Amino acid sequence: VFALSPVDATALPAPSARSLQSFEALKNMLDGRASNSAVDRLSYARDMWPLALLWIRQQKCPPPPDVVVWPTSEEEIVNIIQLARQQKLPVIPFGAGSGVCGGTWALRGGISLDLKKLDSISSVDPVSQTVTVGSGVMGETLERRLNAGGYTLGHFPSSIYTSTVGGWLAARSAGQLSSRYGKIEDMVVSARVVLGTGERAQSEVFSNNGPSQLPLWLGSEGTLCVFTQVCLRVFPKAEAQVFRAFEMKSVEVGLEAIRLMFREGLRPAVVRLYDPFDSALASNSHSKPEAESPAAMTRWALTKLRRHMAPHTLGHPVILNRLQKAFSKSRLILMFEGEPERSNDEEKAARAVCLQLGAVDLGQAPGKVWLKKRYDVSYRMSTIIDAGAFADAMEVAAPWSKVLAVYSAVRKAAAPFAFVLCHFSHAYVEGCSLYFSFLGAASNERESEVRYHRLWTHALSAALAAGGNVSHHHGVGIHKAEAFQRSLGAARPVLQALKRRCDPDGILNPHKLGLE
Ligand SMILES: Cc1cc2nc3c(=O)[nH]c(=O)nc-3n(C[C@H](O)[C@H](O)[C@H](O)COP(=O)(O)OP(=O)(O)OC[C@H]3O[C@@H](n4cnc5c(N)ncnc54)[C@H](O)[C@@H]3O)c2cc1C
Repeated sequence: VFALSPVDATALPAPSARSLQSFEALKNMLDGRASNSAVDRLSYARDMWPLALLWIRQQKCPPPPDVVVWPTSEEEIVNIIQLARQQKLPVIPFGAGSGVCGGTWALRGGISLDLKKLDSISSVDPVSQTVTVGSGVMGETLERRLNAGGYTLGHFPSSIYTSTVGGWLAARSAGQLSSRYGKIEDMVVSARVVLGTGERAQSEVFSNNGPSQLPLWLGSEGTLCVFTQVCLRVFPKAEAQVFRAFEMKSVEVGLEAIRLMFREGLRPAVVRLYDPFDSALASNSHSKPEAESPAAMTRWALTKLRRHMAPHTLGHPVILNRLQKAFSKSRLILMFEGEPERSNDEEKAARAVCLQLGAVDLGQAPGKVWLKKRYDVSYRMSTIIDAGAFADAMEVAAPWSKVLAVYSAVRKAAAPFAFVLCHFSHAYVEGCSLYFSFLGAASNERESEVRYHRLWTHALSAALAAGGNVSHHHGVGIHKAEAFQRSLGAARPVLQALKRRCDPDGILNPHKLGLE
């Protein structure tokens, strides 16, 4: 049991006595690469969970770690863990802190284990098409290095500039081109880990028959092991990218088009269907419409609103959400990539599916604009937070038979608390992910926090009740721990037993995934 309450960011609690006893030993062990300065403890106290951003506006922060360390090798990690076991100090693996669920929060203090100095990148094995990297390599650094040799990893999370390979594996990340290249777990060939006992393990390259160890570590969010080295599959860099966008009659028709494409065997690298409100905002029409139809005027007003989204406006989400009725059309963006002729053929086949369902062909431009701006959107969050509002995203997945039910249920549940937008991406033969954006505000900081928690409780419960899952790619952390534990059913004691075996002293990232 823990209290999720902030501390004063301007006067941090002193490091624990046990951590002070270990500090000199850590410094000696790591040639000085350890710090318990206030600035370092404050920097590592949070990740990008918007709850912390709400606190920081009030000069508060999550409980900080006692110490931050920067190991450079697997051996040093083993030594740190052994010392932490003796001293019963928590160890919190830290990639780049871009997680959005409190996965790196040091709820019981302890050692924040920054892994970014494990940054080796091997040359690509051109026969097997693999690369072996340290778990602390930053996403963008790896992709640039691969591109220089004519390869790509095919993994493009919106946080690529601010996340690490180890963080991707730990949270089972998905990139924007996942419909062609898969999620990160589809790209991992093997991994080396250090357990909470200090033991090292290396997963097999090709799993034997029988249970395989790699899937146990993937998604474990630093609670079972620390990833140290990863072997990843790479692909030849695409020769061509072919874009096409459509206006679909409705969300229902758009989803049906995607389902049919995947059933036919088409694999667009990018497939993004924006719900009518999100489509209106994505239309980029900044000039006042000439034809003053209610829908065109509302769209224009919303475009303006997006630019100057004020807390006052967001404090009345019910009215904003009702405006959605003025829209019905949904925008679909597709991008195929690979060998030119095959990409063109696939685009032609996808176009036939869409046109048969009454779509209007919008040409290539919207897709090209999306590609250019694809990392912009997420970082707009800071403007909204600065303006005194909150913004967050809930990404769940559901089978095709339940996607619409999840969409309606979440919108209804969230509508009283936040302005709700949704797009559908990361498609599969059997279903897809729904990415809800929430924008909200209240009259003061405290009220905003209450509203934020109510929003999440209602929205996530609605998603689960309608047949969605807890999370598609942002992970669980502290934020969704309770819902995740409930979703485990009979597997719950099995996971707890695994935790006890891998981490008998309960030092590895306590409380995350709901594991002590
Ligand atoms: C603007 C923005 C956009 C985002 N877009 C996407 C997106 O498109 N797709 C997506 O999947 N996610 C996205 N995210 C979420 C986040 O980037 C991912 O969860 C990412 O995988 C986290 O990587 P990180 O290195 O920053 O990990 P951190 O935040 O440092 O850690 C995340 C979790 O992994 C654990 N961990 C980190 N490194 C290791 C390791 N080596 N061994 C064991 N455990 C470890 C931590 O303890 C923690 O529990 C986004 C976040 C932001 C802020």
